[in-house]
Amino acid sequence: MQIAQNSVVAFHYTLTNDAGEVLDSSEGREPLTYLHGAGNIIPGLEKELEGKASGDKLIAKVSAEEGYGEVQDQLVQEVPRDAFQGVESIEPGMQFQAQTQGGPLMVTVTSVEGDTVTVDGNHPLAGQNLNFDVEITDVREASQEEIEHGHVHGPEGHQH
Ligand code: ZN
Repeated sequence: MQIAQNSVVAFHYTLTNDAGEVLDSSEGREPLTYLHGAGNIIPGLEKELEGKASGDKLIAKVSAEEGYGEVQDQLVQEVPRDAFQGVESIEPGMQFQAQTQGGPLMVTVTSVEGDTVTVDGNHPLAGQNLNFDVEITDVREASQEEIEHGHVHGPEGHQH
């Protein structure tokens, strides 16, 4: 069957940037499973998979805009070291959950200078064009319960 609204799709992928560097891959893991049309995956990839079928292979090119968004300068902020109470040592690459007006946001420490810590709330893949080398391994119809929950149930999905 073809991928449409409320299809449950399983696919293998290798994600590269425009420089050809591999950013992520499902190789050696179970395929990624998602509920189509529910916003489970980035919009640009969902659009490219629409209408495809099990066994199909494709290269899906997704712009930053339809991927993880453009880099937003205002998400890079300097915060005082005091804001990290209870954390013994802070190093670049560490991730923290920050409370913002728009809700919780995962931020990554990019530099530490004296009492000033710079954090970046952009997604690590923001601002990058993404190239997904995709092989669709399974397409089935979602159950009523999956549609109501907006996600996939079963071995590779939510357990509850
Ligand atoms: Zn559920």
